[in-house]
Amino acid sequence: MNAEPILKVAVPVPLSRLFDYLPPTSGAPVAVGSRVGVTFGRQTLVGLVLGLATDSELSRAQLKRVNSVLDDKPLIPDELLWLIRFTSDYYHHPVGEVVAAALPVALRKGEALYPEQDFVTATDASAGIDLEVLHKRAPKQAELLELLIDSGGNGLDTGSLNETLPHWRRVAKALSAKGLLGVSTRRTSAADATRVTEMPEPVAGPQLNAAQEAAVATMRASDGFAAYVLDGVTGSGKTEVYLHLIADILQAGGQVLVLVPEIGLTPQLVNRFRARLGIEPALLHSGLNNTERLASWRRAALGQAQLVLGTRSAVFTPLPDLALVIVDEEHDHSLKQQEGLRYSARDLAIVRAKRANIPVVLGSATPTLEMLKHCIDENYVHVRLPTRAGGASPPALHVVDVSNHKSNADGLGDVLAKAIDRHLTAGGQVLLFLNRRGFAPTLICPGCGELAECRRCDSRMTVHAREHRLRCHHCGANRPLDANCSSCGSQMRSLGAGTERLEDALNERFPGRVITRIDSDSTQRKGAMHEALEAATLGEADILVGTQMLSKGHHFPKLTLVGVINADQGLFGTDFRADERMAQTIVQVAGRAGREQVQGEVLIQSAFPTHPFWERLLSSGYEGVAAEALREREATHWPPYCRLALIRASAHQREDVHAFLNVARQQSVAQAADSVRILGPVDAVMARKAGRYRAQLLLQTNDRQALHALLRTLRQSLEAEPLARKVRWSVDVDPVELF
Ligand code: ADP
Ligand code: ZN
Ligand code: ZN
Repeated sequence: MNAEPILKVAVPVPLSRLFDYLPPTSGAPVAVGSRVGVTFGRQTLVGLVLGLATDSELSRAQLKRVNSVLDDKPLIPDELLWLIRFTSDYYHHPVGEVVAAALPVALRKGEALYPEQDFVTATDASAGIDLEVLHKRAPKQAELLELLIDSGGNGLDTGSLNETLPHWRRVAKALSAKGLLGVSTRRTSAADATRVTEMPEPVAGPQLNAAQEAAVATMRASDGFAAYVLDGVTGSGKTEVYLHLIADILQAGGQVLVLVPEIGLTPQLVNRFRARLGIEPALLHSGLNNTERLASWRRAALGQAQLVLGTRSAVFTPLPDLALVIVDEEHDHSLKQQEGLRYSARDLAIVRAKRANIPVVLGSATPTLEMLKHCIDENYVHVRLPTRAGGASPPALHVVDVSNHKSNADGLGDVLAKAIDRHLTAGGQVLLFLNRRGFAPTLICPGCGELAECRRCDSRMTVHAREHRLRCHHCGANRPLDANCSSCGSQMRSLGAGTERLEDALNERFPGRVITRIDSDSTQRKGAMHEALEAATLGEADILVGTQMLSKGHHFPKLTLVGVINADQGLFGTDFRADERMAQTIVQVAGRAGREQVQGEVLIQSAFPTHPFWERLLSSGYEGVAAEALREREATHWPPYCRLALIRASAHQREDVHAFLNVARQQSVAQAADSVRILGPVDAVMARKAGRYRAQLLLQTNDRQALHALLRTLRQSLEAEPLARKVRWSVDVDPVELF
């Protein structure tokens, strides 16, 4: 009898199954949750052992052995293995790819949990140095040496030195020449991670107001799993509430996971958490390099970091003592990954909390209809903070009719311009929101009507006047901006306004004022966005012009006027979420205004000022829009009153996409219970993007089990479908974008 177990390994390939391998011939038994190096076809890949079995579809003689075992102890704890499997099942995504998405890059590539690093130490000779004397002659050298001496014999790794003393290398040379400093390469250890720099005592925050007190009391009372929708207007003090809840957990020795949208994870926010809680949070966001990411992950996994502050993928961080999960800005679309593994970090956070039997807090000034419906159904608890904290009054919203403004091609209407003047004169700061970067969205020939279009997408090129180029915002294609029409020679004209054009108009109209544009073009350099926002926060800019980037989370103390330049984009949207989304955007951006003493004013430019949407928003706010939208969704059977899944496909030939989706349709019809409606295939709204034709099949149901059963078999058969070789396809469960 052969006692050797068979390893069930998740391998990062687009197939929804585990692969069987034998363990190495020698060495300790391989534990579930360890990584293994495997040969897969002709590739060598890093897999994760998800299970052990006694038999396989293949005979033992046919099974390959793993090449190596990368972890002597399980790297991934059971709770995370469970979440990985859940994610793979729920989103119908290959489990090996889920593992890859869940792990930091360094671990995914097979690097050790404790990698080799360069450590800098103070040598024994440094004991004889009088630091005070050195301080007088060479203060920078003294600073570094003192830091190293304080760190003890282990020294400090170069990564953390880069962070604490960015220019340490210059000084290190001098110290090294004097024989006071040495560098050695060794493995990081658990001891290194525990030696976190000493933190100052936590600073007390403001006294909570009655609503905040009540919110904290409600959530503190939870025993086991409970989901709280913390529905608080902008500036109502949601973050203060989080801080109190987190402080409780820290006191009790637990760990907290806080998820925020990418754009919300500002140094401002991190500093606030650090100062108020007196601990160093483990950060997980896209600005970190692989070593930093691994270090944060390790601190979390070992229970050394009590607070993890991260974006979307941080939901997959192992946290042995997890006691509370907070999702800030739960409505934010960046919490849903839109490519590859299409998961909602918010929804997984809820699932994770439920599994761990702990509370989860979902904060927003504009909660999604999904969360509101859960509150109505009493699955979740609706906790409200109806007023701004600290006495600031809510901003006053007005709709400005721009239907007659033929002349304001630059987006700046007269009423708005006058208001800007008034606010600037009164010492206020102004924010103008225009969700369209570049100079103009359209370039047209007035002679023959020719439009500058992208050659690879069904879309127009955006004029980028600063760099004299046309750019496609969908595929990245770009070409020089021709002044004249290639067909008839007339001078081309820009139609409509983007942020660059608005910036020009403002410079002309308000000479001498500091105008700062913040969009993804102006902030390409790493750190540029934070610098611009920092300057804006300090009041250094008079007028801020920007896209979505400006609408979230930031607190600009002097800001008194917000202008929404082109508010009509969502009024006639094709997506059933258009209303909800537009109300969220406007309320969020409006929430930047008047957060301190002076009341804020918000002017919304619309060419359809009598549209009922405006009336609703102005009279009953987001709550009113949401209530109406919920009624409509119920009547028309859209989420949250049904469940959706989308099968998307694309290919170089349109026929291939439709042939593939028609097969998917037939198979769905054959398997589906009557309870699942199958709609399509239809072309995507932008049918051609980056040279590929795109179409989709929509599945709609009230019966979640039936939908998942269908997707499970569909996925299996599509993976084996010969037509699939010609297309790229994906499954999107609970899509937030329908097209
Ligand atoms: P939100 O997260 O809801 O936008 P914050 O927690 O950031 O709100 O609070 C907004 C502002 O109000 C911050 O400057 C905060 O310090 C202040 N604040 C919050 N709660 C109180 C309170 N109870 N009393 C006074 N100021 C408060
Ligand atoms: Zn022409
Ligand atoms: Zn394009």
